[in-house]
Amino acid sequence: MSLIVQKFGGSSVADAASIRRVAQRIAATRRAGHDVVVVVSAMGDTTDELLDLANQVVEGHPAPRELDMLLTSGERISMALLAMAIKGLGLEARSYTGSQAGMITDERHGKARILEVAPRRIQEAIADGAIAIVAGFQGFNRETGDITTLGRGGSDTTAVALAAAMDAEVCEIYTDVDGIFTADPRVVPKAHKVDRITTEEMVELAAAGAKVLYIRAVEFARRHGVRIHVRSSFSDLEGTIVTNRTVPAEGETVEEPVVAGVATDLSESKITIVGVPDVPGKAAQIFTIVADTLANIDMIVQNVSTTRSGETDISFTLAKSDVPAVLAALEAARAEVGFAELLHDDDIAKVSVVGAGMRSSAGVSAKLFTALYEAGVNMEMISTSEIRISVVTRASAAATAARAIHAAFGLDGEADAVVYAGTGR
Ligand code: ASP
Ligand code: MG
Repeated sequence: MSLIVQKFGGSSVADAASIRRVAQRIAATRRAGHDVVVVVSAMGDTTDELLDLANQVVEGHPAPRELDMLLTSGERISMALLAMAIKGLGLEARSYTGSQAGMITDERHGKARILEVAPRRIQEAIADGAIAIVAGFQGFNRETGDITTLGRGGSDTTAVALAAAMDAEVCEIYTDVDGIFTADPRVVPKAHKVDRITTEEMVELAAAGAKVLYIRAVEFARRHGVRIHVRSSFSDLEGTIVTNRTVPAEGETVEEPVVAGVATDLSESKITIVGVPDVPGKAAQIFTIVADTLANIDMIVQNVSTTRSGETDISFTLAKSDVPAVLAALEAARAEVGFAELLHDDDIAKVSVVGAGMRSSAGVSAKLFTALYEAGVNMEMISTSEIRISVVTRASAAATAARAIHAAFGLDGEADAVVYAGTGR
């Protein structure tokens, strides 16, 4: 008998009727003869509402330990209701908090990392023939004895970690879209669902702004070889299989797709430091100041200044939310670093194209740049990895750029077989 982990996101358990519908689906899986472990998110927008509430009772940042106590209650509500609903269908079900389920994490409130999964009680429940329902997004730290959360969207990670620890056949992630798409259909109307994608591509797409799967969950799946099936809880359609390798169906010859998908990201800003002395050590000094604010840098471009001799301009992109802290830290160090001017620009977009086949295929950049040129889109920054090319454009040009790239690569190859990928939670 095979074990299946099923994870239901907030949109799938938004109200009582949805919980009953999800309970039916879980019951059907159980009745088909599978052992079932369920991971559930908080109902609908509960987490956001709890965060709002926390921000209403205190000026500034709520205490991290208490915030985790508060936020984990969202998942407790849905896990208990779901267990009741399943019992109401005549099947045995038991709900467990993250700590009861053995999700051992480090002590960092709000962004804890899973250190170990010790699902003894879950195994016992399964051995008793029960369906185990686990609260997503939360864990427990042994040293502090406190409850932790894994960060927003963390229920995906809970599900994948449990699937790995319990050697599940598949980790099904139920959401409100049909699977992984070649692009966000809201941005690129001609996007289509793909049947399969590799974890490697999915990690790059998630990093590039695709939101359907949480990046840490995909990284976990890649490291532990967990097979993920992203599918809709609103239909019975097959979704998208995310695995470490694309496994060709029998009799099928599959060429590695050049391009898996196109992602757009409007969540970043650009900071430019003008007139940095062109001597060794300046970049180190600047990025140490930035790192001390705990901001994550994405793309970096350094250029010899056209207007000032012996000086360079350094631009980088980062999350919009990190901009105020980084600007303040750099401004405070202006004299020490010796730069002339600090600029920032919120009006940018990052458009990325991802595909494992880029490794072995020539001319991908040329095709991308040609598509943008023909669409009249100007590129402001470019960065590449082995299987990804990202460009920064004006925010207003993002959709045009994404559509042009999507079309260029689709027309180029064996149409549907060649273009894959992701977005939309
Ligand atoms: N409820 C949490 C959140 O909204 C965790 C999750 O949904 O995965 O971020
Ligand atoms: Mg949620």
